[in-house]
Amino acid sequence: CGITACAAPAENDVLDTLVDGLRNLEYRGYDSSGVAVRNGEHVTVVKREGEIDALADALQGVRPSGAVGIGHTRWSTHGAPTDANAHPHTDCSGEVSVVHNGIVENYTALRGELIERGHTFTSETDTEVVPHLVEMYREQGLSTEDAFRRAIGRLDGRFAVAMVVEGEDDVFAARDGSPLVVGVGEDRRFLASDVPSFLEHTDRVAFLEDGDVVRLAADHHEVTDLDGNPVDRPVQTVDWQP
Ligand code: GLU
Repeated sequence: CGITACAAPAENDVLDTLVDGLRNLEYRGYDSSGVAVRNGEHVTVVKREGEIDALADALQGVRPSGAVGIGHTRWSTHGAPTDANAHPHTDCSGEVSVVHNGIVENYTALRGELIERGHTFTSETDTEVVPHLVEMYREQGLSTEDAFRRAIGRLDGRFAVAMVVEGEDDVFAARDGSPLVVGVGEDRRFLASDVPSFLEHTDRVAFLEDGDVVRLAADHHEVTDLDGNPVDRPVQTVDWQP
């Protein structure tokens, strides 16, 4: 239902920014929430069924700190609201973490294909096929970016997806039918389903459109189409109050 993400310069900690970004999206409704934070080579995922306070409590114990991360509030469509079905979802290796809004209509066929190839699933969601597709294409030798494009190209339905991967600095994201906005801050960049998520940090935004793929780093972002051709989504200043 709600996606938030932030890429800050190294040595920063975006955990609180992510949790605040999720709280700012609570108005959209949700039944679970979670974050994936990248610290050096490692990505830590924490997710909980219920209120964002339940996630915040769980984070007290783990306190994953890092300069890059993604967050999600889930409004379940496939699978009950449980900790296991909350996002982010990961691949078998645990290297690829994905959050998703919307519905992957062809997930049953994709899941069947992936299970046949030896992938094991730990949730009942349609979403979980996405990190496994990325994993499959990376194993076939594609770069993370190409694997992401290929995976996104396999999905039917409406979606916005954001991903962090161990060993990769950038946040990868794509949309087709669900909103996604880039926020350009002083020294960092944001990504969210809606501007209020990060409006307290910046009012400079670039609205993505269906078919867009974006790579987000602290000091730059790059929008392309599914084939990798550059797409121009101008950064504009919005006249909204936080
Ligand atoms: N279809 C996904 C799920 O049920 C995402 C739902 C959402 O947009 O929050 O987990």
